Amino acid sequence: MKIYLDNNATTPVDPRVVMEMERALKGEFGNPASVAHAWGWQAEELVKIAREKVAKAIGAKTNDIIFTSGATEAINLAILGLRKEKTRRIIHSSIEHKAVIDVCEEMRRSGFEVRIVPVNHLGLIDLDKLRRELNSPTLLVSIIAANNEIGTIQDIKAISKLCKERGALLHLDITQLLGKVKFNLEELGVDLASFSSHKIYGPKGVGALYASTQARDKLQPIIFGGGHERGLRSGTLNVPGIVGFGTAAGILSEELSKIENHVGRLTELMDRELRRQIPEIKLNGDPKNRILGNLNLRIPGINAGQLLAKLGTTIALSSSSACLSQTGGASHVLKAIGLTRQERDESFRIGIGRFNTVEEIGFAAEKIALTAKTI
Ligand code: PLP
Repeated sequence: MKIYLDNNATTPVDPRVVMEMERALKGEFGNPASVAHAWGWQAEELVKIAREKVAKAIGAKTNDIIFTSGATEAINLAILGLRKEKTRRIIHSSIEHKAVIDVCEEMRRSGFEVRIVPVNHLGLIDLDKLRRELNSPTLLVSIIAANNEIGTIQDIKAISKLCKERGALLHLDITQLLGKVKFNLEELGVDLASFSSHKIYGPKGVGALYASTQARDKLQPIIFGGGHERGLRSGTLNVPGIVGFGTAAGILSEELSKIENHVGRLTELMDRELRRQIPEIKLNGDPKNRILGNLNLRIPGINAGQLLAKLGTTIALSSSSACLSQTGGASHVLKAIGLTRQERDESFRIGIGRFNTVEEIGFAAEKIALTAKTI
């Protein structure tokens, strides 16, 4: 049995998504920017339907959606896109995704002040420190709504309220939150939000930036050309990708509570089984405020790298985030929540998804426990 348990890195594409993408690829190949003929109109209609589905899934208006190549590009647009603003101060948390950290570094190099707010041992942002940081005029606060490594979900309402009180824009990285819980960005008062199709059972290479009217007025493009996406993201639209993204988002709107139940049950089962078989196992992050499916764990005395290497051909797990595993870097997130070097080396991430089964979880828990005993 081969079991994929790395759904925080990426998710398998839903067969219904594949079907819709195939139709778009085969039949409706037109360019949505071709305004003079039916091929273009058809493609434009597909993009319109997808945009509505994506907007609905996050509680936004269709006008607020700017399609991009993924969350990384959306994050670049959200932050670099504000480079012409007069207030040159940005705040982000110590557990952001590398995309936010690196873009903010670029802003720092071009003269912005960048402040980093710490998190506690659960990965929750220190709201008092954020409040104090916001005493100085600030352009933007960028926060990872749900962390990709430890799954901690932030108190978005409280953060949004603080930003509103101090007149700062709020950018949320909702890449990991979307598809795990229901939320409404408009109600939460969020100005900008970045997300990606491949984390919600859609294709890779497509994502979006949500930008409220107020935020859009301030944004400058980072990619120039034909003026697509109302001048904010030039380049012929990836119609099959957008169709797939829209289908995946539509499925979420219809089936989220069913998905929550299933993934929630599997996560509890995995947690229970691992604890029964490895009583010394520890959970990293917040046991309460965390996304379903994510278990960041450590077994004292067991090197996670060795464990993962032994399991790699049958069970897909991750040492931290997929991006960090690629660059071989140590996790800044686990460091930020206070784990020692040894504890970080013992940590691994399980990402359960909606296509996993009870049988797979039982098998994987046993295999992880047995393998750990051989190290
Ligand atoms: N932000 C978070 C929290 C993520 O987990 C990821 C994906 O790893 C990204 C951003 C980047 O997304 P993409 O792969 O679409 O560029």
